[in-house]
Amino acid sequence: MPPIDTNAIIIKSTDSGETSRRLSFFSPNEGRFSLTARGAKSKSGRAHANLEPYTIARVFANLKPEADLGTLSRAETIERFPHLREDLTRLAAAAVVCEVIDRGTQPRLANARLYEYAVSFMRALDAEDGAKLIFLLGHALMRASQALGVAPHVSACVGCGAAVKRGWLDFEAGGLLCPQCRPGGSPSGASLDPSVAALLAACAIRPWSQIREAANDGPETKALATTLIRWLSYHLECEFKSIRFLLSAEKL
Ligand SMILES: [Zn+2]
Repeated sequence: MPPIDTNAIIIKSTDSGETSRRLSFFSPNEGRFSLTARGAKSKSGRAHANLEPYTIARVFANLKPEADLGTLSRAETIERFPHLREDLTRLAAAAVVCEVIDRGTQPRLANARLYEYAVSFMRALDAEDGAKLIFLLGHALMRASQALGVAPHVSACVGCGAAVKRGWLDFEAGGLLCPQCRPGGSPSGASLDPSVAALLAACAIRPWSQIREAANDGPETKALATTLIRWLSYHLECEFKSIRFLLSAEKL
């Protein structure tokens, strides 16, 4: 079996027995998989001890083509994002996006587009002005939902095609409903002010570098991020554990 040799984001790290860790990786060509880093918590396993979540590593492992669990042979950190570890909001935002990847992807199914978004998000999160972190998270959640194939339709009403300024993001209908169409929609969703609807529409089509000037963190960017977290929770059918961390860090 050819060994795996790939770059990957470490999206999760959990204890595995007394001395080992189980690390979950997301790679552009191998998708999501987990490896046991034997002895990562002991002195003899110091080679693996510096592997931290929300970093990028080059990973070597023997993993059968269909398997999503194996043993780590060797890994080296290649990008570390040091500022994430100095700021709770940055760390919590990284945790949310990595949990979305963990819950939203199928094991061993490559998604290079999601990987590229995730890497550019981590780089931006490491470097961005502290007043724009929740906006950046909202943008990343929109981009992740697109790459996962569950993005809301936000350019016009999904019922009648009319332009929507103040609308209802209907989780079941798959996007925005105008006030005329909303009575036919489902009870699950979120009411959006015009400013939040505009940010949502901009995030769907513009890269971060082109919209970062559009807002500083405030009620609109918090509504953007929390609405997209609820949207993803609904469509991926899960509760995100990292939300509690984000809520305590940012009081959303
Ligand atoms: Zn309509």
